[in-house]
Amino acid sequence: MQDAEKLRRQRLEMVETLKQYGIDNRRVLDAFNEVERHRFFDRASLTYAYGDCAYPIGFGQTISQPFTVAYMTTLLVERVPSGKVLEIGTGSGYQAAILDALGYEVYTVERIDGLKEMACRVFTELGLDIECRLGDGTLGWPEKAPFDGIMVTAAAPKIPGPLLGQLSENGCMVIPLGTYESQQMTVVRKHGDAFDKEVFQHFVFVPLVGREGWDDDVF
Ligand code: SAM
Repeated sequence: MQDAEKLRRQRLEMVETLKQYGIDNRRVLDAFNEVERHRFFDRASLTYAYGDCAYPIGFGQTISQPFTVAYMTTLLVERVPSGKVLEIGTGSGYQAAILDALGYEVYTVERIDGLKEMACRVFTELGLDIECRLGDGTLGWPEKAPFDGIMVTAAAPKIPGPLLGQLSENGCMVIPLGTYESQQMTVVRKHGDAFDKEVFQHFVFVPLVGREGWDDDVF
């Protein structure tokens, strides 16, 4: 079987696995079918591209498990179907590409230069119109605010204040909140000066390191 056909079949199998795990949002499943996850892996690691697991991408970081990406994306899509979204923690760029496939206007911030460069290169190769920048994502991207959605893809000890300030009215933030060992997926929605909070299942993410996150020297 040709490599491309093999990878396409593996992608279909990944989507079937997501369905078995309870992901049933049609738009989300279509985006997972559309975005070629293997494009975010180096050639030597292609065989791991469609397994339902996190995978190292260098610099001590990981591309998140497909289920985790699908779970967070579903929480966002169900509350904010369209608009402008800020992702904190570009990593490989896969989550940003999924958001792009869903039709959002996507901005993404990464604190590690090597990862930001790799992700931007893939966005260019794929012709994706995603704006990425290097920086401390706990401070958001004030020049581009407000955002209808904010997705934090690293473990946060608290909700970063600057991100709350960059949500639009009725905007939602999806963020794993908790300790270094375990976090609960949390959705925060802005209503005027108030914020509603919904709490979901536990996950384990790499830490959000920055002024409004974990200290750099703890790790
Ligand atoms: N969304 C990524 C993907 O699709 O591959 C996976 C994200 S990985 C689990 C978490 C990422 O958050 C890492 O790349 C890490 O360097 C980044 N990160 C941690 N703290 C950050 C911060 N303050 N600002 C921006 N990125 C941060």
